[in-house]
Order: sequence, then structure tokens, then C-alpha cells
Amino acid sequence: MLDDVSVYGLLGNPVRHSLSPIMHRAAFRALGMNAEYVAFQVMDIKHALAGIKGLGIRGASVTIPFKEEVIPLLEGVDPVARKIGAVNTIVNRDGILIGYNTDWMGFKSCISNWMDPEGKSFVILGAGGAARAVLYGVLEIGGEAILLNRDAERAKRVAEEFGCVWHPLEAIKTMEADVLVNTTPVGMWPKDREMPVPRETLRRFQRVVDIIYNPLPTRLLREAEKEGGKTMSGLEMFLHQGAEQFRLWTGMDPPFEVMRKAVLEELQKT
Ligand code: NAP
Repeated sequence: MLDDVSVYGLLGNPVRHSLSPIMHRAAFRALGMNAEYVAFQVMDIKHALAGIKGLGIRGASVTIPFKEEVIPLLEGVDPVARKIGAVNTIVNRDGILIGYNTDWMGFKSCISNWMDPEGKSFVILGAGGAARAVLYGVLEIGGEAILLNRDAERAKRVAEEFGCVWHPLEAIKTMEADVLVNTTPVGMWPKDREMPVPRETLRRFQRVVDIIYNPLPTRLLREAEKEGGKTMSGLEMFLHQGAEQFRLWTGMDPPFEVMRKAVLEELQKT
């Protein structure tokens, strides 16, 4: 019955190309839950949060451009999300809205499934919201983080906050590490011919991760493979962050392979 349905949603602007509805709806269906997931194109985040309470929406994903703006508007924020400075998940606990960050969990899970990260060096490109989640994840799994960003002042600020090393982006020319992680949007569709670093720098990294998932794979990953590196796309992080959202909202184990299949099918259409 419609009035029994549990509603979840996405708060962002734009939201049209988001894969979150496909992923979460597939999970609800697979578990036979009477639940829906709606993408809301938000004009005003403060009113959107009031709407969540007023409509009894159980939980939400938060995306660009609200991940930071939403923090002071919530009744509670998980300490890790506060440290990262970004909320991508809201849980509505009887009218009290609590914010979490599952991006870092998504990163942690996909890296831990792929390699032993303990003591390994990670060069992180970018210093925005995603970089902060990745940086937190790298330190949490026992990796050594080196932050490189176009705006060197921003790199310095973020690196000092997290207690790691930083360099301007140009330092990539001499950089060597176990893993390179791109957290910039460079190479994302429709500018999918672009790369965040020159091709010849890639042979100095054993592994390359691009957190972009459209296209699959990005040019960065294709070039890294040609140089003999192992690669991982942003699809893994996206799926794992979504799985953690599902767990937070429902308290249930997410049907991970169902979610992967639904998202892959959608990506293959584009
Ligand atoms: P953001 O806060 O806007 O940060 C973007 C970062 O990229 C900044 O550090 C910026 O450098 C850098 N950058 C942008 N354009 C650049 C260019 N042309 N050359 C060099 N550096 C450039 O964005 P975000 O929220 O961190 O998101 C970044 C990317 O991560 C997006 O593509 C997003 O879709 C992806 N993402 C993926 C997942 C996943 O689950 N797979 C999760 C979250 C985000 P400056 O500081 O110099 O401006």
C-alpha cells in the first residue's frame, strides 16, 4: 500500500544523471521491501530538510553542491563526517536528522578488498570533498598519504589539517608511490579525453585508482594499464558507499551484487 511505503531520496542539483536511484531501487526490490528512492533536484537545502521531516522521508543521499552546506543544518553529525567536512548521507531518526559520510567507507572497503594497504604510499590528486574522504580512508587503513593539488594553498591547508605531506600538482613529474588516486573530476564524461597527469608519470605507480565512474574506464586508467599498472575504477567506491548508506538506513545487509549489476547495466546504456 502506498501509505506504507518507506521513501528515501537524493538531494542535489543537478541529479538527472545520478546512478543512486537505480542502485537503491534495485536493492529494495531484491529484498522485497516496500520502499522507494526519489531523486530530488533541490533549490533550497534548508527547505528540503524541512520537507524530509514533514514528509517522513526515512533517509537521503546528499550530493553536489550540498555536501558541506548541509552540515550546520542537521541536528547531529557523525564525528568522522565532521572531520572530513562533508555529509553524503542523512538518516531520519524519528524527526531528528543525522549526517554521515560513507564516501570514506566506500574507499576503505574497495581498497581493502583489492590490496593490503598497510604501510603503502598513496598519492592523492585533488583537495576537494572527495579527496578529504579518500585522505581520511587512506590514513584509517594504515597508508601513507601525499596530497597533490592544482591550488597549492588548498593542498597545504588540507594536508596540515590531516597531518600528511603535500606538494603542488606539478610535483607529479618526479613522484613515485605504490598507489595513485585521482579525486579530481578531470577525465569525467563528456571531457573524457582529458587526464589529470601526463601519461609518462604513470609508470611510477604500481596501482592507479580513479574515483570517476563515467566513463568506465577513464583515459587515466586505460593509459595506466598500458604502462603495466593495476587499476580500479570509481564504480567500486560508488557501490561500496551506496552499500553503507543502505546499511545505515535499513540496518540490513545490502544485496551488493544486485546493486552492481543494476548500475553496470545502466552505465552500459550510455
Ligand atoms: P570538488 O570539491 O569540486 O574538488 C575538485 C578537486 O579537483 C579540487 O581539488 C580541484 O582543484 C581539482 N580540479 C578540478 N579541476 C581540475 C583541473 N582541471 N586540473 C586539476 N585539478 C582540478 O569535487 P569533489 O566533490 O571532491 O568531487 C571530485 C570528483 O570525485 C567528481 O568527479 C565526483 O564525481 C567524484 N566522486 C566520486 C565518488 C565515488 O563514489 N566514486 C564519490 C565522491 C565524488 P583546485 O583546488 O585547484 O580547484
